[in-house]
Amino acid sequence: MGKIKYAVFDLDGVLSKGEIFSKDPSGDMLQGERENLEKWRQFMKDSEVQCIAVTGRSLEITRELLSHMDCISACEHGTVIFDPKTEESYSTIDCETQFGNLIGAKNRLEEFIEKSEEFDELLLKKFPGESIKRMRENLHILTYEFESEKGLEFAEELYSEIATFLPENILDDISQGKLVLKKCGMAIDIMPAVTKSEGLSHILSKLEISPDEVLIAGDSFHSDGPMMRVVEEGFWICPANSDRRLKEEILARGSQGYVSEKPFFEGSMEGLRYFLE
Ligand SMILES: [Mg+2]
Repeated sequence: MGKIKYAVFDLDGVLSKGEIFSKDPSGDMLQGERENLEKWRQFMKDSEVQCIAVTGRSLEITRELLSHMDCISACEHGTVIFDPKTEESYSTIDCETQFGNLIGAKNRLEEFIEKSEEFDELLLKKFPGESIKRMRENLHILTYEFESEKGLEFAEELYSEIATFLPENILDDISQGKLVLKKCGMAIDIMPAVTKSEGLSHILSKLEISPDEVLIAGDSFHSDGPMMRVVEEGFWICPANSDRRLKEEILARGSQGYVSEKPFFEGSMEGLRYFLE
């Protein structure tokens, strides 16, 4: 086995159950999980392994956490890179020539996000009694969260309404695949066509990291699966709460993978100990 020098972490579902990273950007982001994170930090320090975080969440709400974790990070599904050492953040799209054709779409979306507040009331009026919330701290992706018994069906209804006030050129960007529209039973996201995989690839090449010296932890099949395949030669771990399909893929890796018996933070620590102790 080659020496593991770097460890890559998805955040929600891997280092926490998720709540601490959302909802209250002004509050203490580490509440309730500080003890766990201290344990994790000490373990990574003792292992002499450098950490990288890749998350769908916005830099605004994870900045404090990422600084505490001392992780160079890709946030907002890989669209934003943040280095806590320098406090510097920049757009993946602006610095990679392969994304040159996305710059216009990215700028148009950011411009719209800045003024998106004026449509909030319209949506609440259109769907009385439904709880709909635009994530104000997302500056690079447009996100509406909702709680509705109708789930995905409600996402369709909500998007039909959002589409009535989205500028024509943003609708074009979506149909051309420069912006990606994602709907699920809890949220609608519109984001540049950059993924966690590409955010991670950017960090790996920036730091000149070879995939075979990387350990990577994730829990979702659709967003973490492709990201983990960026380091096909590396070591993959997932906690017990992970998507069944991701677990199967990791089990099939034999000695290059470990599926934990425990869920969430404890499960990730179990995987880390398996490969690093
Ligand atoms: Mg996750």
